Amino acid sequence: MNIDGALERVRVVLSRTSHPGNIGAAARAMKTMGLKHLVLVSPQSFPDPVASARAAGADDILENARVVETLAEALEGTVFAAAMTARKRELAVPMKWAREAAGELVSVAGRGDVALVFGNETVGLSNEEVTLCHMPVKIPVSEAYSSLNLGAAVQVMAYELRMAALDPGKTPGVEFEPATFEEVEGFYTHLDRAITASGFFHPSNSKRLWPRLRRLYGRIRLEKDEINILRGMLTAFEKK
Ligand code: SAH
Repeated sequence: MNIDGALERVRVVLSRTSHPGNIGAAARAMKTMGLKHLVLVSPQSFPDPVASARAAGADDILENARVVETLAEALEGTVFAAAMTARKRELAVPMKWAREAAGELVSVAGRGDVALVFGNETVGLSNEEVTLCHMPVKIPVSEAYSSLNLGAAVQVMAYELRMAALDPGKTPGVEFEPATFEEVEGFYTHLDRAITASGFFHPSNSKRLWPRLRRLYGRIRLEKDEINILRGMLTAFEKK
């Protein structure tokens, strides 16, 4: 796939952004690196003249930005999502560095839409938001102060994606067909129903179980065919 083809499939998701100026800065950062699709999850203020001013020549990205209420909505239709975070998370999939993650994202973009998810300026991404993604990704920074400005974080990651897409030799194609976000969520709903009905666990004890199960399946990255097998098995168990 050519560079624009891969970058065309990248969605930048900004969750619960407080400062419209950062939305504009993110749009500008994206446009300079050839990214086009911006999705805003419950932004505090958008559209906003401050965002447009900071976007400079990238106002087309703001005009085409999609505003949604939840991260789950923002991830609909994607086959892979990276949670951008400087902080280590309990029960998260092992973290990847930005450069390695960018290669992986560009490879998977050959098979479907991929998302880069950025958190709020003050609180970052919630643990719940991180578990909706496949892997946490960290931009290498000084240990003394690890938190980049939101616009700067988008710029660094957009640059890494562009570099990865420019060098297709380093991003081998993905052979399998990855399941979409909705297919995986549909499987989780089915599994939840089946294990509750089986008596294996009671919904009130599920607090620890679900983060672990999401981590397990997030790590192996389910393919479409595998989802069909797993759901077929669940249906058969449910009938017994
Ligand atoms: N104070 C917040 C950080 C907010 S910075 C916290 O402790 O989590 C806003 C967003 O920029 C973060 O949610 C993250 O998505 C991104 N970001 C900032 N620095 C980063 C880094 N070193 N690696 C990856 N993402 C980073």
